[in-house]
Amino acid sequence: MGVYEDLGVRPLINAWGTVTAVGGSLMAPEVLEAMREASTAFVDLHELHRKAGRHIAASFGVDAACVSSGAAAGLTIAAAACLTRSKPECRGQLPDTTGLPDECVMLASHRNRYDRSILASGARIVELSASPTIDELRMAVSDRTAMFLYLAESESVPESLSLSAIGAAMSELGVPVVVDAAAELPPRSNLVRYLRQGADLVLVSGGKEIRGPQSSGLILGDSELIAECTAHSFPNHGIGRGMKTDKETIVGLVKAVDLYIQRDEDAQLWVWHGMVDEIVASLSFHPHVRARGGTLRSPGIQPAVIPRAYLTPLRRSAEEVAARLRAGDPAVVVGLVEGELAVNPQCLTPEQIPMLIQAVGGAC
Ligand SMILES: *Cc1c(COP(=O)(O)O)cnc(C)c1O
Repeated sequence: MGVYEDLGVRPLINAWGTVTAVGGSLMAPEVLEAMREASTAFVDLHELHRKAGRHIAASFGVDAACVSSGAAAGLTIAAAACLTRSKPECRGQLPDTTGLPDECVMLASHRNRYDRSILASGARIVELSASPTIDELRMAVSDRTAMFLYLAESESVPESLSLSAIGAAMSELGVPVVVDAAAELPPRSNLVRYLRQGADLVLVSGGKEIRGPQSSGLILGDSELIAECTAHSFPNHGIGRGMKTDKETIVGLVKAVDLYIQRDEDAQLWVWHGMVDEIVASLSFHPHVRARGGTLRSPGIQPAVIPRAYLTPLRRSAEEVAARLRAGDPAVVVGLVEGELAVNPQCLTPEQIPMLIQAVGGAC
């Protein structure tokens, strides 16, 4: 790992998942090769952006797609599109929203660390009470409402309303629904499900389960809104100009989507279950740790279908063990969920499992 060692940066064994702060995911050699090839010629970036969007939309079986520099950038661009969709002549004035509807309505239970990206467009967030009825939801909508933001991972919190119910109400009121589904893959079927249930735009990270470039993402959905997103995006000189998607990133994401569409999701889940079983079986003999396999008990950490090994250290706190793992050699990062270590196999290779088991055994 010369490039990292040269900088004094230690590579990590990632038992946490497609977490952006540790690198998101790793790209396949085919993706890197596509990016290398893209780097050898000049092209019209407007044309590349448009045609890549068309190709990706066809791959996912959705109406239209716009490549962004990540799901967070997608939030800003999607919000901008919702602000100006009926007044395209006002695109250039953002983030000044004078004369435009500027409210992004969302449920209190869906507020999250990423929703501030909406504010960069100039929109304001209007938060609804803890668990509103559909009537209260309707009453919150006025001619100032530009969009409704729905966080896909909050779908299953008890205070939430279903996307279908919100989709139906907003569609009657003519308010576009934007779904942040950055980390909601697998399953692949989620994307089309959100659109069917009433989403007008769905945001996905390119650098998580799709395993494209880390600075890439997708906005999928309604053709007219996607055209408005494209108008706000790089290389146009709008609010999205600073969220650059270069030719290598666009081509890399196209290749990653092609590979992603062909991936056998059942086989992949089977491999992940095998890894979890191996970790649990090996550590069940350890005197200082209790190990079990499982899926998420509480909603909010995604993707829900991926199995985890849950480990309860008996001599030290889970936080202390996580810190020891991170400081160890090799350095290992794991999730922490409700006082347990959560080992997510999503970014592990089979060769790393014995190392991981040894590291955890030593740290407990
Ligand atoms: C990861 C994530 C994002 C940000 O995605 P990027 O592609 O890193 O910009 C936004 N929203 C949620 C819910 C996420 O999990």
